[in-house]
Amino acid sequence: MRLLLVEDDPTLGPKLQTALNKAGYATDLSVDGIDGEAMGDIEPYDLIVLDLGLPGKPGLSILQNWRSRDNATPVIILTARDGWEDKVSGFNAGADDYLAKPFQIEELLVRINAVLRRSAGLKPGELAVEGLSLDEHDQSVRLPSGEKLSLTGTEFKLLRYLMLNPGRLLSKSTLTEHVYQFDSDKDSNVMEVYINRLRQKLGPDLIRTRRGQGYIFGREH
Ligand code: CA
Repeated sequence: MRLLLVEDDPTLGPKLQTALNKAGYATDLSVDGIDGEAMGDIEPYDLIVLDLGLPGKPGLSILQNWRSRDNATPVIILTARDGWEDKVSGFNAGADDYLAKPFQIEELLVRINAVLRRSAGLKPGELAVEGLSLDEHDQSVRLPSGEKLSLTGTEFKLLRYLMLNPGRLLSKSTLTEHVYQFDSDKDSNVMEVYINRLRQKLGPDLIRTRRGQGYIFGREH
């Protein structure tokens, strides 16, 4: 999952970015409203965490602009502690959830998780698809046999994206865009290597290849 964080606080921004990356979300940080708005339109993010008080352009206007351009990327807004007006205007502008500052990173992770599930049409809680269940805390997967396997950071990011998009044809470049950050070295051929590693761990028929087009997660029914 690829996230955009728009937060100008010089301490909180980098701290959240590090924590989100550690939690397996490839996260880009923007510290400015104008930049952040453009990035949110251009890059294929799965979710955006948007501070409301930003230099350049206020978060609320950014959100309104995204929604008026049919940018439906889920957005969690960060509001001031007692700013109930912010929450109301945020929801009216099209926010999916909010979090009042200060907050614990754990709480942000739980909310991100819930919003991503909801937008993928899945129930909240454990991510379980095709008999696999993903443990997002220790970044491991449980097989139908009950065996638990640990995953590397990239394997985890890739498998989570696949499990949140079952049955969809996903090209190598789509997978690359949703698994890596903006500034990372995006070689989509590397995806093949990770897909093969997942196949070795999960069994050969769970990730199907459509030659020249990409991959589909899930067994043929
Ligand atoms: Ca701010």
